[in-house]
Order: sequence, then structure tokens, then C-alpha cells
Amino acid sequence: MAAPQTTPLPIGGRVLARPSTSLAPRIMILGGGFAGVTTALELAKRTAGVLPVDITLVSEQNFFLFTPMLAEAATGAVETRHVLYPIRPLCGKWGVEFGEMSVEAIDLDRRRVIVRHRRSAVRQRVHYDKLVLALGATPTVDIAPGAAEHALPFKEAGDAMRIRNHVINLFESAALTDDPWVQRQLLTFIVVGAGHAGTELMAALEELTRGILLSHYPSIRQDSVRLVLVGSTILPQTVTKLAAYAQEQLLARGIEHEKARAAAVSREGLTLKDGRTIPSQCVIWTAGTRVSPVVASLHLPKARDDRLKVNEFFEVEGARDVYALGDNAAQINPHTGAPYVATAQVAIRQARALADVLEAELTGGQKKPFRFRVLGEMVPLSRRTAVADLSGVKLVGFPAWFIWKTIYMLKLPTLAARVRVVLDWTVELFFERDVSELTVKPEQET
Ligand SMILES: Cc1cc2nc3c(=O)[nH]c(=O)nc-3n(C[C@H](O)[C@H](O)[C@H](O)COP(=O)(O)OP(=O)(O)OC[C@H]3O[C@@H](n4cnc5c(N)ncnc54)[C@H](O)[C@@H]3O)c2cc1C
Repeated sequence: MAAPQTTPLPIGGRVLARPSTSLAPRIMILGGGFAGVTTALELAKRTAGVLPVDITLVSEQNFFLFTPMLAEAATGAVETRHVLYPIRPLCGKWGVEFGEMSVEAIDLDRRRVIVRHRRSAVRQRVHYDKLVLALGATPTVDIAPGAAEHALPFKEAGDAMRIRNHVINLFESAALTDDPWVQRQLLTFIVVGAGHAGTELMAALEELTRGILLSHYPSIRQDSVRLVLVGSTILPQTVTKLAAYAQEQLLARGIEHEKARAAAVSREGLTLKDGRTIPSQCVIWTAGTRVSPVVASLHLPKARDDRLKVNEFFEVEGARDVYALGDNAAQINPHTGAPYVATAQVAIRQARALADVLEAELTGGQKKPFRFRVLGEMVPLSRRTAVADLSGVKLVGFPAWFIWKTIYMLKLPTLAARVRVVLDWTVELFFERDVSELTVKPEQET
């Protein structure tokens, strides 16, 4: 049955109306990712029953996505829904008001944020006393001609579902032909961007395609699957020496590392800067990110990559009572002199520190500057292997994989979330992975 067609409704008057009757200061937090959700909850915990303050969190989706497990979701190792967490129950527990709204603009002079729900025709202008910008960053798919049309992004929950379906669909298509050249073209999987996300995804795709799917398609030649990771260096942001081991692992598993830069994407495949084209029906784009257009449009001092410049108290340069953190902020790490790397690890620590800063401002207390030394790095490479550097202790292979699983399982936001993911992993140990393609007819998409 087709989903009912909806037209924008004239709703919107009361969605974020509660604090307008309140005399308490309104702290408005934009973005429901690691930075925004953690700031909202940490501040609510610190102020509950002690300080009169209205905390409002606005994000375009009513769930929080645990990105470190997105590669597992995209390859079916965990259920996609199990890496999503509804924000409302988290907020409701601590009295944080939540609005599932898109931020369209920010008026810094009048201290107002203009928001709108996608089902509403009405724009709301919401006043803030203090504003926290945690709108993250999105992949720059439009960096190369044709990438926006022909490459798959890898950032959202929907991207994970789309990638998994597309990969399985390509196997189904390859099974319909005996032509080895066509099979090879259909089963060439390219990931552009060899950072954390791209490397993890490529390793997970290798496990899914060669390790699992091939065994279900006897008519497909074993050498038909080609996997290409494109990027000048593997794990370029790795401050420790894990990149070399990760590269060794990937090459040993038959993954090609293409150092030439990506120039264009078309129906035929990926064209590199040196003019070569790799024929492929599956180009996944993870290279480069850009801050939200809302942040980019603010007339404020920015770093080269458009992230907002903030000091050690998260105060945005050039704006009063505006703070930024996470992927949309460029805050200098005093230990390195360079901005903190954009990771969930940093965003969570910044959020806790920002909650302290805001609490101190509300109570007239002493603000503590944020200083954080990266605790370590872990990159899962599937097939029960990973690389990890934990405060100087280097681990590779199974021990690193086991520690990655344990640490990230503990980082999941709720007990229910942990149980679901652990059950997925346990099922994976004893049973075959589900390789069904989830077909949703276009008219059934909502
Ligand atoms: C595939 C992948 C794997 C990763 N793996 C790791 C890892 O293993 N370890 C690690 O430390 N980091 C990892 N990262 C990086 C990590 O996800 C980010 O650094 C982290 O999410 C930054 O948090 P944030 O809150 O600043 O931004 P985000 O998590 O991106 O949150 C931004 C939020 O703002 C919302 N938003 C954006 N624009 C608007 C708007 N106009 N209106 C309303 N809402 C809006 C978004 O919907 C989103 O909810 C990974 C990233 C990806 C993409």
C-alpha cells in the first residue's frame, strides 16, 4: 500500500513555545549529534532542581546516530536501527525540550533562530539567551563533477541502508550474466577517502562481499570482486603509527590502494586526476566534509574549512553568548597548536566541558578552559581485526578488535542499545549474516 501523500500543514505555533512563558534563561542547542545531545543532557543533569534554566535542543531528525558503528550497519554486521537512538526519551528524562526542526537561519543581532519542521509551512523565530552551535559537518559530495549525482554519501543512517541494498543488488545483477567483464564492472566497489570512515567501510565491504556474499552466488567468478580505496594516504589524520599496519592489512586482503586523486564520477565509474577511469557501479564518497550551510552563512571569523573559531571556553569569536563545539568548531588544541581533530571522542569531551562552562556562567562560578589530550585511536578493520593505540599501548589484530568492540559498546547511550548491539554481534558469531535486500518501492518511501 502506498504511503499517504502529505502536504505541509500550517502547524508550528506551539512546538517550541513552552519557554516563552518562562522567565528562566533559554539555552538553545542546535544539532542532535554527539556534541549537541551530550551538551544538553550534561547541562540538564548539572542544573536539574538547582538552577532555573530552559534547555531547548533542536535537530532535523528525532534520533541520534552512533556513527562509529555506521560501517557495520552499512554491511549488515549490526541492524541499522540499533545504531540509532531516539532523542525524545533521553531529553524527556531530564526535562530538555526537543524540537524536530531544521535550522534555516540564525539572527545573531536579534538573538533568534529561525526553524521549521519539514511537515510544517510555518517558520518559527525562537529567542535564545545563550546559543550552542553543534550542527556538525556533511560530506562534500559535490567536490568532484558528477559525485553528487553518481556517488553514494556515507554519513547518515539512510546512507548505510542504501549502501547495503546497493551492494546486494549489484550481486543479484552480476548473477544474471556470464560475461566476466560485466561481472567485474558490477562488482567493483570504490570508496573515495581513506580517512577513518572510508578505511573502516572498505574493510567492512571486503568482509561482506568476498567473505559472505560471494558464497551465496555460485555463478559469480571468485575474482570478480574488486575493491579500491582512493586516497593519497590511508588514515591521514592518525597521529599514532597505526596507519602502516592498517594499510598492510588491507593490501593483504586484496584491497587496492589508489593514491591518485578522484576527479569525476559518472554512470561509468570513477575518473582519476591522471585521466584513468575505474569502471564501477558503486562509488562511495567519504572524502572531505563541510560545515552546515547555516554555519557557513554566519558573518563571523572562520578557519580555512569554514569551521567557527572558538576559544578555550567554546565562545565563538565575534559573537556574544554564542558557543560552538564538535565538527562545526575549530578550537585550538594547546598540546599541538592545531585545531582538534573532528571526532566523536573530541565532541563528547568538549560537550561535557561546555556544560561546565555554561553552569559556571549561570552561577557566576569560575570557568575552566578546555584542554584535552587525545586518549588514543582505534580503527576496526572487520574480520575480527582492528588497529588501536591506547595512550601509547599499540594493539593490532584480534586484541585490538576485541577492545574496540568493548569500548564502543560501553559508549552506546543506553543499556537497551548495548543489549541490542551485543545480541547482533553474538548472532553474527554463530549464524550467517542476513543478506536480503530490503526493497522499498519508490511510492512506499516516506
Ligand atoms: C561513518 C563515520 C564514522 C565515524 N567513526 C568515528 C569513530 O569511530 N570515532 C570517532 O571518534 N568519530 C567518528 N566519526 C566522527 C564523528 O561522527 C563526528 O566527529 C561526530 O559525529 C561530531 O559530532 P557533532 O555533534 O559535532 O556532529 P554530528 O554528529 O554530525 O551532529 C550534527 C547534528 O546536527 C544536525 N543538523 C545539521 N544541520 C542541521 C540543521 N540545519 N537543522 C537542524 N539540525 C541540523 C544533524 O542532523 C546532526 O544530528 C565518524 C564519522 C562518520 C561519518
